[in-house]
Amino acid sequence: MIPFNKPHMTGRELAYIAQAHGLGHLAGNGEFTRRCHVWLEAQTGCGRALLTHSCTAALEMAALLLDLQPGDEVIMPSYTFVSTANAFVLRGAVPVFVDIRADTLNLDETQIEAAITPRTRAIVVVHYAGVGCEMDAILALAQRHGLRVIEDAAQALGSSYRGRPLGSLGDAAALSFHETKNIIAGEGGALLVNAPEWSERAEVMREKGTNRAQFFRGQVDKYTWVDVGSSFLPGELIAAFLLAQFEEAQAITAARMALWQRYHEAFAEQERQGLVRRPVLPAHCEHNAHMYYLLLPDLARRSALIEGLKARGVQAVFHYVPLHRAPAGQRFARAAGALPVTDAVSERLLRLPLWLGLEPEQDRVIEAVRACL
Ligand SMILES: *Cc1c(COP(=O)(O)O)cnc(C)c1O
Repeated sequence: MIPFNKPHMTGRELAYIAQAHGLGHLAGNGEFTRRCHVWLEAQTGCGRALLTHSCTAALEMAALLLDLQPGDEVIMPSYTFVSTANAFVLRGAVPVFVDIRADTLNLDETQIEAAITPRTRAIVVVHYAGVGCEMDAILALAQRHGLRVIEDAAQALGSSYRGRPLGSLGDAAALSFHETKNIIAGEGGALLVNAPEWSERAEVMREKGTNRAQFFRGQVDKYTWVDVGSSFLPGELIAAFLLAQFEEAQAITAARMALWQRYHEAFAEQERQGLVRRPVLPAHCEHNAHMYYLLLPDLARRSALIEGLKARGVQAVFHYVPLHRAPAGQRFARAAGALPVTDAVSERLLRLPLWLGLEPEQDRVIEAVRACL
């Protein structure tokens, strides 16, 4: 069976973990964490990078930074992972779902304004498949209405929008290094803070609400409890693993891009015949080949393709159950009107295997898909 995902190791992870072990500093914020922060800040141009346990944890930090009050509203897509919404629900806020664009499957910027109410505090964008949302329009809208913008950039490290790296555009952004993403640490994430007034507070919240980091820099003479917070920082072993991945990020993205392009060319004819729709890439969005998906005409044909591929030894998977259809989504959130594109896409989208090492077997996947259509 060709699996849907296989985590890629660069080869240096264990050497760096051994180094961290040798340094004898295993808690967070050691030398490897510092080097990860430097790398992330240089690559993304964000104001400040802070490693977290996960993208989920980074989103929870963003929700804390927003100072949300119960009943405040946060606009976001329904076609996303549960953490996008859950992080804000934990603060008593109400996710308000807006439909996605039929081309990129990202938040439809033309429908956001109609969903804004006096309780709206923020817009959370999700760069699906590592393709940027229409950030110029969204940032302008947010500015007009005094709203914050948070990027769920879980899938988007290495992508850019009009030449600007994703993760550097909103007030804050959340990255994921979960083993299903391009750059991995098993479980891991980062908060990228761009709003300067959030920078110091984010550091405190990540260290259990203490000024520990300032104390160690000699900026304050007491280490004490100064704000709300939690333990959001990973230990050095995770950071050591992650640094090895960062150092290979360009090569990883390039190899994924070659696999992505090969799929894209292989299914051009099937698209012409109306059997599938391939991903749409706006010219101003540079992506990171996080995902290759196909849109089938309907649910029945997607189910048939999944079954057909399984019979031919290929694991392909669908993606999100829209959050407005999920039990917790109905309990804690609301949809701003009908979400026809979200509903349709969730029934029609199929993701194909895309991982480093797939190269010799990719033709088998392509042949299997063609045979099943
Ligand atoms: C993977 C993912 C997350 C969650 O990431 P974790 O690091 O597992 O917490 C959140 N949002 C999106 C869009 C994702 O793809």
